Amino acid sequence: MGTLWFGGTVRPLDTEEASFNAVFTEKGKIVATGSEEALRDEYRNRITREENLYGGTMYPGFTDSHLHMIGHGEKIQRLDLSEVTSVDKMMSLLKESASRLPDGKWLIADGFNENLFTPAAVPHRRELDRVTSEHPVVVSRVCRHAMLVNTYALELGGIDAAVPDPPGGKIEKDNNGVPTGYLHDQAQDYIRHVMPSIDGEYLEKALLTSLEDLWEKGFTGAHTEDLNYYGDHILTLKVFENVIDGEKRKFRANLLVHHEVARPLREAGYQTGQLNRTLELGAVKIFGDGALGGRTALLRDPYSDDPSTNGVSIHQREDLIKIVATARELVMPVAIHTIGDLALEYAVDALEAHPPPEGMRDRLIHLQVTAPDLLDRLQKLPVVLDIQPRFVASDFPWVEQRLGKDRLSHSFAWKTYMNMGIACAGGSDAPIEPPDPLLGIHAAVTRRKPGESHSGYLPDEKLTLFEALRLFTTGSASAIVKEQERGLIKEGYTADFTVFDRDLFELEPDEWLDCKVTMTVVDESIMYDKRS
Ligand SMILES: [Zn+2]
Repeated sequence: MGTLWFGGTVRPLDTEEASFNAVFTEKGKIVATGSEEALRDEYRNRITREENLYGGTMYPGFTDSHLHMIGHGEKIQRLDLSEVTSVDKMMSLLKESASRLPDGKWLIADGFNENLFTPAAVPHRRELDRVTSEHPVVVSRVCRHAMLVNTYALELGGIDAAVPDPPGGKIEKDNNGVPTGYLHDQAQDYIRHVMPSIDGEYLEKALLTSLEDLWEKGFTGAHTEDLNYYGDHILTLKVFENVIDGEKRKFRANLLVHHEVARPLREAGYQTGQLNRTLELGAVKIFGDGALGGRTALLRDPYSDDPSTNGVSIHQREDLIKIVATARELVMPVAIHTIGDLALEYAVDALEAHPPPEGMRDRLIHLQVTAPDLLDRLQKLPVVLDIQPRFVASDFPWVEQRLGKDRLSHSFAWKTYMNMGIACAGGSDAPIEPPDPLLGIHAAVTRRKPGESHSGYLPDEKLTLFEALRLFTTGSASAIVKEQERGLIKEGYTADFTVFDRDLFELEPDEWLDCKVTMTVVDESIMYDKRS
């Protein structure tokens, strides 16, 4: 009752050179690897299915170690403005969408970035009013920390000149004190509260859309954080159980649990670990700080381009320690978002104070700004660094102004972490960056955008192709202590494979981006098939 996979190259990724041309799998596991001839001979009585790679190259299944699956699905479904470089273009795209919407329905778009416009200015709500006065319009900024709305939406949200800024938010107003339609941070809640409510059907559609896109990109799994953003966390979890049922739809999804819902989920009877054949509940997610873009990442020293601030801590040092202690009471590992070096210091203090239970491993997500003393302490902890190589390609060169030369020497330092023997996993943080293993690998190896010709930002930190591939395979597995069963093509490992039409090892980096996924296999089942 086994399957022979043959007809191409197999890259097991245990060493850089290793390759063979066939794999035999049974009951969801890899039984043997080697030459087609030898496997056909040895397993002739057990081969009941044959799958031809048609000259493609098979890798261990890729796993995105950090993203938001539902958010990614929402982004695909909504109008995406992140590549739009002029206000005129933005308005014409919105107008086109509005023409397809019944009157009164919300027109929602994501990702505008005024830095791409000339001049670099956020439009006024009046410009959205010219697009449509029959629909409330909400356009989120690329960072999701701000949104622009039209007058219709502003009125539905009850925002007028008399409404003051809410705590943690700002309502942009003109010289006469009239709202311009541009809302920052918590002020966005006025609009969110009147937007169409999120129900199970909405979440299911977004998750399915996301799942299909991830299979198409070659992902066999992902570590995803969604449970605290859509109202009812139990409903959100049930949607995951329905969509990723582990039978018809297989995907190795590891769900991070926001710290505010960790105990409620436990009380509702959910335990850490497998929920079904391919779905599992993972670590407690904690936010340590914000991001460099809005200068909310928490730094030890003030920002180089704004000495009045060193960022924002989401939790004070002592509070973070308490939150980690609570996770330990629930016998759970933690996954802490840390971008600035002071946020990292707080996180390391907390992890040292409360180490994970035996057999578990914590993770730190993003790790953009570090310092030698903190890396020395990290080296001694059971922790995996969850990095997003694409941030280097996307966020440089403006990051250099935020941080200045000195700090830059130990920022985004993937190679340094690896050379110190600290395990690293690779993710996209979608919907912030596109989830695509080829883009992630390209960024880790070149440290520049595709098509650019310079030698990369902080070129000493470039990874080799082999190292970059391992971020998304065995690296992601190690973030959840599964490196003995996932992330390699090896006897006893899960039959999760990603097949490309060509061998990345024989191509130049910019050529990788033209490779096509021909097959995505999870638990021996083909979830995406574009073989010819
Ligand atoms: Zn994230």
